[in-house]
Amino acid sequence: MAGAILIISGPSGSGKSSLCHEMFKRVDNYYFSISSTTRAMRDREVNGIDYYFIEKSEFIRDIECGYFLEWAEVHGNFYGTSLKPVLNAIENNKLVIFDIDVQGHQSIKEKFPNITTSVFITTPTISELKQRLQKRNTDSDNIINNRIINAYSEMKNISKYDYLLINNDFDTSLNNLISIATVAKLKTSLFDVNDILKNWKDLSF
Ligand code: 5GP
Repeated sequence: MAGAILIISGPSGSGKSSLCHEMFKRVDNYYFSISSTTRAMRDREVNGIDYYFIEKSEFIRDIECGYFLEWAEVHGNFYGTSLKPVLNAIENNKLVIFDIDVQGHQSIKEKFPNITTSVFITTPTISELKQRLQKRNTDSDNIINNRIINAYSEMKNISKYDYLLINNDFDTSLNNLISIATVAKLKTSLFDVNDILKNWKDLSF
């Protein structure tokens, strides 16, 4: 048995982060990949927990040093996944969970095709997304409009994901997400089948 990867994507405001926080209370042996970003910190966010908030110059230096497993520009800011902690968590048989955009999904899936499971989370409609972003009250109207426009292009990538959650009801989505996290660790490609066959055949046969 080796480590596995669960990628969670979807528009900001779809409820991804709240679902992840609840899921973390109910899933064992996971590692959540904390990304670095050049985006400004929102109220209630904590540096080193939600993200590592860094300057653009530092981000560019990190790209040049090969610090990132993948990075992307999303909504005009840079976001990147650190390489070493992820490799370390995979080696330690953890379920590595990423909250990354569609570009990051593509890149991780290409690098780790056999151990990756992915889920796209969204709202039932674009107006519901807008309402949630407005209610959250963390971003200006300009930022919200930009995120809404980008959400539609992100949605066009749904078919590249293994699972889709339309987050209409929080508890239902949470239960479904926990189920997906559970099956992500049961993919046959994670197991050494030869080893299993060897151990399965006992001496009497
Ligand atoms: P937010 O600014 O709302 O926290 O995140 C904006 C978008 O960036 C979300 O879709 C989120 O999944 C994505 N994101 C966060 N971290 C990373 C990362 O390390 N890599 C990539 N490719 N996307 C990320």
